[in-house]
Amino acid sequence: MITADYHVHSDFSSDSQASMESMVEQAIALGLERICFTDHMDYEFPKQYHYSFEFDVDAYFEKVAQLKQTYQGKIQILCGIECGMRPSLSKRFQKLIASYPFDFVICSSHLVNDMDPYYEDFWKEIDKETGLSLYFDSILSNIRSFDNFDVYGHLDYIIRYVPNKDTTYKYEDYKEQIDEILMLLIQKGKGIEINTAGFKYGLGTAHPCAEVVKRYFELGGTILTIGSDGHKPEHLAYDFERARTWLQSLGVTRYTVFEQRTPIFLPL
Ligand SMILES: [Zn+2]
Ligand SMILES: [Zn+2]
Repeated sequence: MITADYHVHSDFSSDSQASMESMVEQAIALGLERICFTDHMDYEFPKQYHYSFEFDVDAYFEKVAQLKQTYQGKIQILCGIECGMRPSLSKRFQKLIASYPFDFVICSSHLVNDMDPYYEDFWKEIDKETGLSLYFDSILSNIRSFDNFDVYGHLDYIIRYVPNKDTTYKYEDYKEQIDEILMLLIQKGKGIEINTAGFKYGLGTAHPCAEVVKRYFELGGTILTIGSDGHKPEHLAYDFERARTWLQSLGVTRYTVFEQRTPIFLPL
């Protein structure tokens, strides 16, 4: 059983209204042993989207410390972060991560050339192949410019937003880029995450797709965390049982949790 959700949002993220308490209560009800909050920090989010994905980190740590006391003995609560990375932000993130005792750091790409592929506008002059290729490029530049993270988030996240629900792709078609990403991650001792929001979006797979997960292990990777990317209590541990059997079918036998940035391996 997967007993830890390592990608969880709360109302510290501007796209969630869920209190941390409500997420923790749900985690306990589901029988989880660990919940790691990973709220969004996307510095300098482009103004045209009228969104600010930034939060007060002192208040965040204070709140988690409070909850740790309240729920002591019932569940382990960890303090992580999801960094919406761009190479121009690496110094700022470096400073942030060095200044606080995070348990776990996810590095994610949410933008491509300062545009958000979530919006149709992005796809006006960009076809699926170009979009994916640009997205993988953005991941590569991010990994090249930043070291202080534990796993790369939802490696093929952009596939969710391809127009006309054309949401499958072949690893083979992007093999060169994906292999370079995976090798660089492995070389830097970083992991990937299994993000079960893929199931929630009806993709029939978690992020990243099966071929990419297999390839990560083939190339020598060992670190794989599992997260729902839940923004509401009902999305916590989303399809974890399905994820477990899916991972087992790919030959994966263990997953990873982090405490104070140190990996701990657990059986699937
Ligand atoms: Zn994300
Ligand atoms: Zn997220």
